[in-house]
Amino acid sequence: MPTGALEYLDHALKEWDYSTSFSGLDAPGTSMSVHAVTLSVRMGRGVAGMREPKHKLAVENFKPSQAELKAHPTARPACMHSDQRGYWKPAVAKTLAELKSSGVQLTKSILMPLILQGRNAVNLSQPCLIHKGQSCPVPRVRIHIAGIECKDWSPRGPKTGSDGQTFETFSCWAAVQTAMRHKAILVECSHKYQARILNDIFGIEMALTFIQNLCASHLGNLGVRPRFWGLLLSRLEIVAVWSSLNNVVPMFYRTWRGSITALLIATQEELDAELAPTLFYCIPWDIESFLNTSQSVNSQQQQNNNKDNNDNSDQDEQF
Ligand SMILES: [Zn+2]
Repeated sequence: MPTGALEYLDHALKEWDYSTSFSGLDAPGTSMSVHAVTLSVRMGRGVAGMREPKHKLAVENFKPSQAELKAHPTARPACMHSDQRGYWKPAVAKTLAELKSSGVQLTKSILMPLILQGRNAVNLSQPCLIHKGQSCPVPRVRIHIAGIECKDWSPRGPKTGSDGQTFETFSCWAAVQTAMRHKAILVECSHKYQARILNDIFGIEMALTFIQNLCASHLGNLGVRPRFWGLLLSRLEIVAVWSSLNNVVPMFYRTWRGSITALLIATQEELDAELAPTLFYCIPWDIESFLNTSQSVNSQQQQNNNKDNNDNSDQDEQF
């Protein structure tokens, strides 16, 4: 296994595969490519040395987006399905169509039992747009990424939530993911989305480990568009991942000779000096500032060491 944080990320990008639903213009694939090329340049391999994860499947029904996905220069999906609801088994699709035609609204209370049927409710293959109509299977991947339909959750939409028209499409997507038992699922939607729906569906086998409303404006974009992000991780996978991080996690701990009191009375300059080694990893381009700070830290650490050598009562602390 790789021994450094960058090497670990490089290894992960090279080994990972992923699939996308409601793939749109392939923001996930573009993000993966940006990460891969940035890391490759940072590690001295140049753009040609980039190692990015494999995009196994995209599911998208908007034809201009399909064309964009097929033309993606680096993250082109290996397979593409067009109809999210096309996974319903024919008998299920027929029943749902009859219910709709008789005026029944397909709400969460009707569809949730169907979602939990997983493999019994859906077929895990569809005609593929990449392989000229051949039926290609839904692959099991390291992470599935879905920007689920947000119309019914958006403040500018009908505000119908899980009683809205898009919940049937969501239900078919959820039934497929339940059947696939991916290691991780990343979901994006309107910031009004209710995270408990994900827990209701996946909660037994997966933990909703990250829920956050993020806005592009937080990243310097001029547009304000808060979005819900939720990360589901396989409970079994959590145990495996933590075990594999045993050689990385210790890098984020270091011995500190002192007491918490020192932090409470420290001046800003002393705090900056204490944090300098961490700042090096955050702003490596500011090398002159780092070198100056580094000298200051070395000088201060030397003084602390001299002081410690004269005071054997100090205890090492981990934080
Ligand atoms: Zn295919």
